Amino acid sequence: MRVSKLFGKTQREAPAEADTTSHQLLLKAGMIHQVAAGSYSYLPLAWRALKKIENIIRDEMDKAGGQELMMPALQPLELWQETGRDLAFGKSLFTFSDRRDRKLALGPTHEEVIAKMASYNVRSYRDLPLLVYHIQTKFRDEPRPRAGLIRVREFTMKDLYSLDADEEGLDQSYNKMLKAYQNIYARCGLPALLVEADSGAIGGKDSHEFMVITESGEDEVIYCSDCKYAANLDKAQSIKSKVESGKLLPKEEVETPGMATIEQVANFLKVPQSHTLKAVFYIADGKLTFAVIRGDIEVNEVKLKNILRCIELRLATEAEVVEAGIVAGSASPIGITGVKIIADDSITSGASFIAGANKPDTHFRNVNYPRDFKADLVADIALARAGEECPKCQGKLSSAHGIEVGHIFKLGTFISQRLGALFVDPNGVSHPIVMGSYGIGLGRLLAAIIEHSHDAKGIIWPLSIAPYHIYLCPLHLENPQVAAKTEKLYADLEAQGFEVLFDDRKESPGVKFNDADLLGIPIRVTISPRTLETNSVEIKRRSEKEAQLFLLEGITARLKKLVSEGISRLPKSV
Ligand SMILES: [Zn+2]
Repeated sequence: MRVSKLFGKTQREAPAEADTTSHQLLLKAGMIHQVAAGSYSYLPLAWRALKKIENIIRDEMDKAGGQELMMPALQPLELWQETGRDLAFGKSLFTFSDRRDRKLALGPTHEEVIAKMASYNVRSYRDLPLLVYHIQTKFRDEPRPRAGLIRVREFTMKDLYSLDADEEGLDQSYNKMLKAYQNIYARCGLPALLVEADSGAIGGKDSHEFMVITESGEDEVIYCSDCKYAANLDKAQSIKSKVESGKLLPKEEVETPGMATIEQVANFLKVPQSHTLKAVFYIADGKLTFAVIRGDIEVNEVKLKNILRCIELRLATEAEVVEAGIVAGSASPIGITGVKIIADDSITSGASFIAGANKPDTHFRNVNYPRDFKADLVADIALARAGEECPKCQGKLSSAHGIEVGHIFKLGTFISQRLGALFVDPNGVSHPIVMGSYGIGLGRLLAAIIEHSHDAKGIIWPLSIAPYHIYLCPLHLENPQVAAKTEKLYADLEAQGFEVLFDDRKESPGVKFNDADLLGIPIRVTISPRTLETNSVEIKRRSEKEAQLFLLEGITARLKKLVSEGISRLPKSV
């Protein structure tokens, strides 16, 4: 490909709206173009890289026994209503009516479509297990599209679905996919950390994410360096620090004039915040809900939402709290009725807490559970923090930011049950198919690779997914010898099947080198009047500083070796 003909121009400056490195570099390199919020065109260079990612993914899915098929984005909303996931996805689901007033949705994922198809195509246990997948466009109406290709509303995803007869089969399918995913990241030159994850709107029990650890990531990962424990903050657990529990003393009232926050109350009464109980009010599907947790710990709203099995959860406003007859600032579960109370299990690890007295400017000392109040449910609803103890090995937990580049779920049977995807066992008894779901967003993976592999000058593509392998860079093309030798080399390389981007522009060496670095093509081959003095070319790897001269004679064999080394040098697994 000749750079002079390439659709997509490099820019000197990255547009101001680009908020992450991958977004800046992709725009600067002229590789993507924003059409609407969270909706992007891929120009030829980015599209070639995306196709390579797609081929790696397809190859690994096929090797694991996957069968490729194709399902449409356009789906009847009814299908979503049958599983109830129209509500779980809420506003993220794009819905609209057709000319006959039939309600439609643009698929954010395809569990429903697969289960419906399986209800026609799977009869007996002999038809199972199955791994079926497609690579197709998904739509999600994200509230805040951002970071270029990382959080978008339209994107290409590989989604594979496993169909099994039982949990054991699901475990095997899940492990196969886990391994296939690790191979994909390794082949893309990307270290991806396996972390426990929340199942979110997709539903199901076990679920894992693959995270690329990077400052710009919007997810937070809690991990232990002593063992392999790692989890998304939404899901992460920790051993909560113990609070000394002395003798059970009688509850007593104490005046706390003007003290409304945990910090104020704790300071005023000269106790650590861990000796207080905090009241947090939520509206869960329209109902006021009371969460009570130790004063030094924050509520994890994802855990709370899962425990409440609600669709919408938000903090209650002060007006909503007051309307329920509760004294904000001095609230506690003591004597409260008519409101659902969820308590974090941290309240059982200590005794003699300070808690609100449910009247203005007053708190109680020596509050104990369950002596002084009841909860509808006691569970872990706490946000884990770095510095706390690992739930697996008691090591110290750390935290880091990450980009989620893959998500796998053990769905179980709730979708197949609702959509009648059944099979008959050897005894003629009918059962719902046990399902798993495995997704990778291709564009986000591409952006994560750039976040992981770049420098101040531009992208550094791993050879396996680079749009081209060689950047052929003649300097002083007005020199007839340079022009002739470069054209000849370009023709030879093309004829031998090399992937070459030929910078045939009459630009200065500075402009050409800057663009070569920005575009991140792995091997730069420079021909200039100076290199031709020794009938040589200069070869420089994008990932290295040093360049080396090599004789033009035999150069294609040397380049062939470099390209194949570039692929084999990638990490085998992470
Ligand atoms: Zn650990």
